[in-house]
Amino acid sequence: MGLTPLWCLRDRLRRREQAPAAASQASFASADRPRADALAPQPSPEAPEAREARIAALDWATLKAAVRNCRDCGLRAGCRQTVFGVGDEQARWFVVGEAPGAEEDRLGEAFVGQAGKLLDAMLAAIGLRRGEDVYIANVLKCRPPGNRDPEPGEIATCAPYLARQLALVQPRLVLALGRFAAQTLLGTDAPLGRLRGTVWRYRGVPLVVTYHPAYLLRNLADKARAWQDLVLARRTMAALSARKDEPGRAAP
Ligand code: URA
Repeated sequence: MGLTPLWCLRDRLRRREQAPAAASQASFASADRPRADALAPQPSPEAPEAREARIAALDWATLKAAVRNCRDCGLRAGCRQTVFGVGDEQARWFVVGEAPGAEEDRLGEAFVGQAGKLLDAMLAAIGLRRGEDVYIANVLKCRPPGNRDPEPGEIATCAPYLARQLALVQPRLVLALGRFAAQTLLGTDAPLGRLRGTVWRYRGVPLVVTYHPAYLLRNLADKARAWQDLVLARRTMAALSARKDEPGRAAP
């Protein structure tokens, strides 16, 4: 569909090499970039429950391919690439953000822009490092145009991918960054202020909510509150490691 490597017969390649430079540049551009019509939304013909059940049965390789090839909402047509998630696939910590931004869209990795630098610092503050016992993913795998907020339909379409990532990693604790991650995972529209400070459960797994690092970059005064959240998360993980009965409340 224009996204896979382009294989070419040798003699056709030779002919192309002999063609004028402008023509070969044009063909390189079209081979390099997926054609817009290949990225147009193609909503799944499946019922949402059937689609969800299919995604819930995927393994890592097929899940990655499903995300890469997804056209189930309109976002893929407006971004460069999907951003799957990154880190240790057997991590105890699972961090959930909102959606790729410009840098993530450019590089194909979650949290590599300014917010990502702050996230790395937040993780370091509790003794964690990206890629080591931490998996990082977003609610949305495609960048919304102009970094606008995710729409409910986009979240509903993309959420099964995140649910499968969580099921495959089987983390001991989920750290939800910001309102979209927290509300999506907890199935609530409660404001962030009500969700912070409590250990919730996502499908049985303890979940702690904190501010999104992009918000913290604009609201420095809330960094102290974010630190409290991180301390709660670290304490919860320590308690989980020390005993079998794990703390946590059902979603609000
Ligand atoms: N913000 C997010 O929520 N996720 C990213 O990957 C980057 C910025």
